[in-house]
Amino acid sequence: MEKILISSCLLGQTVRYDGGHNLRQDEWMLRWQREGRIVAFCPECAGGLPTPRPAAERVGDLVLTAQGEDVTAAFRLGAQKALTLVQEQGIKVAILKARSPSCGNQQIYDGSFSKRLIAGRGMAAELLLAAGISVFNETELAEAAMRLAQLEVE
Ligand code: SF4
Repeated sequence: MEKILISSCLLGQTVRYDGGHNLRQDEWMLRWQREGRIVAFCPECAGGLPTPRPAAERVGDLVLTAQGEDVTAAFRLGAQKALTLVQEQGIKVAILKARSPSCGNQQIYDGSFSKRLIAGRGMAAELLLAAGISVFNETELAEAAMRLAQLEVE
């Protein structure tokens, strides 16, 4: 059975930068939980950042806090650990939190800390996609389920 890497905050773990979570409970998530396919992971925690932590946004290849602190190294480390984990466990599908500077798969904030979104990817999502992992966000669970079904008949 194919496993799925899922952002820890979508599973209710209080790992968000502000100490909160983004619990996403719907039929697909509950089913995958029952099937024991879910591997929870938070790239920012894995990169050594504390919770809570200052909000950060991508600015090109860097990740900076609103105060200008460069936290790129921790974000890169977390992304690298995500990649190592999927490779070790043979995971081919990830569901990552939309718009995060680590996890966003389509859009991210533009680096101005003014809630403006641009097309782009978080550091971990970018690395996983480059490695051929199918990365979805929490609004794309049906698409993720289709990809899993496809992999399971291959
Ligand atoms: Fe959630 Fe990803 Fe942010 Fe961790 S890094 S809190 S998993 S969005």
